[in-house]
Order: sequence, then C-alpha cells, then structure tokens
Amino acid sequence: MSPRSVITPWRACLALLLIVLPAPAWAGPALTDAQLRFITANAEFTLFHEMGHLLINELQLPVLGREEDAADQLGLVGLFLRHNRPRDRAFYRKLVDIAEYWRLEWQRPKPAYEEVQAWDSHALDAQRFYNIACLIYGSDPDNLDWVLETTGLPAERALYCDQEFAQARHAVEWLETRLRRPPDRPVRHRIRVQYDPPPAHINNGQDILQRVRESGELEAVANLASEMFDLPRDGQLRLSGCGAPDSWYDARNAEVVLCYERLEHFLLLSGTYTNPKAGTDSTLP
Ligand SMILES: [Zn+2]
Repeated sequence: MSPRSVITPWRACLALLLIVLPAPAWAGPALTDAQLRFITANAEFTLFHEMGHLLINELQLPVLGREEDAADQLGLVGLFLRHNRPRDRAFYRKLVDIAEYWRLEWQRPKPAYEEVQAWDSHALDAQRFYNIACLIYGSDPDNLDWVLETTGLPAERALYCDQEFAQARHAVEWLETRLRRPPDRPVRHRIRVQYDPPPAHINNGQDILQRVRESGELEAVANLASEMFDLPRDGQLRLSGCGAPDSWYDARNAEVVLCYERLEHFLLLSGTYTNPKAGTDSTLP
C-alpha cells in the first residue's frame, strides 16, 4: 500500500465482493456473512487508500506528515462522505472490520521480512489499527462506546479522537470544496481500467477475472474519480498479479494497481477473524 496505493461507491465494493464470493469452483468451505463483510470492507478501503495517493499526487495536495497516514485518513473519511450513513449498523460493522484487519496483520505470526519496520514510510500495523479505531470512535463518541470495548482503544487516546476525526474530515471537505470539478467543465482525462490475466497460483483466477469484468464495478470506481475531479492526465486502475498481496499507486503513470493476491490475502485472513464482539448486534447501538 505504497505510493508506487477514493472514491468508490458502495456498488464498487460489491464488485470486489463478487471477486471473492465462493464461486462454484471454490474448493474451500463456504464463507460466513462475517467473512464476506470483512473481505468486502477491506477491499473497498484498499481502493480508497490507493485513490487517496492518486489524488494527493495528481492534484498536488499539500500534505503535512506521512503520506501513508494521509492516505489512510482520506480513505476512511472518504468512506463516511461517500456512504453518508452515520449511525447505520452495516456501515459501522464495515469500519470495525477495517480496523480489525490491521489488528490481524499486527498480531498474526509472520516471517521477519513481512514485518513493517520502524523506519518504514507506513505506520506500524498496530498504529494503523489504533489510528483507524480512533477515527471510527471519534466520528460519534456519544454513540460509539462499543467501539472502545470492541477494539480496546485506551481512554488516553480516545479522549481526543473526536478532534482527530474532525480535523481529518475538515481536510477532506476542504479538498472536495476546492477541487471538485465544476459540472459545466468537461471531463478532460479519465482513469481507465485494465485487467491483467490472473497468475496461475491464484485459486479460481479465471473465474475471478470473469466476475470482475462482468460486474463493471472497477469501471464505476474509475469513472467516479475521473468525473469528480479535473485530473491533469489520464490514469489507470489495473487488476493484476503482483507476486505479493499488495496494492499501490505509481506516480510515473498515474496508475493504481490492485493485486489478485491482496484479495486472496483478505480471504485467507477472514478465516482467522474471530473477534466475537466485532459487528455483532449486541455491540452496536
Ligand atoms: Zn499507501
């Protein structure tokens, strides 16, 4: 999820869900509703994060602090603005799933080369978990005490999360207000979608490719970003085999890449997603 890593409607994340839905050829056990929600939420957040990198670079947005942190904030606040469904149960389930993904990344056993190092441009997985949990809670502290219980976000951090969320939301609204393409200005440049063949090691790769193509939802994401902003050049959104569960934005050619392997990684991690409090009715307002 580096800037070599939005804006997507709900239907776009459904498209990504279609990618990983248990196809007839899927050899594993059927996915639970919680697994499907986890995969969908994190696929959507990945697109928002990477499109955040694209907007930062293509629109020359001023960034204080690390770009990776800014992309996470753009991604999460972008979800709020796009869905505009405060206090909606399904929406907050989705947000908690995104935070919990980073907890899983933080706590899962992994080889040393997969560990994020202190010098990395990304925050540590544990920090991304707490940062996102803080933004979620800070969006509506009066009604989201359950987020503190579910995520374990300490009170010392939670105390100021409303200010953190307000600051991030203000920045995103500033961007929207000043840089949204006027309706009377024609679209000069577009993000085009490209599908690379799935790598042989991806389970049901051809089926995944077919489902994504038929859904047309990646095109919907690309069109939304193209039409919302007056981009300075054409770009690409590419579904590709990368050899690793990655995604990125490449500033050389304004290209966002979402890897088949990353979707497969979400699928695998969803099988270990056992937090009993995340998104259950008893923990939601
Ligand atoms: Zn990134």
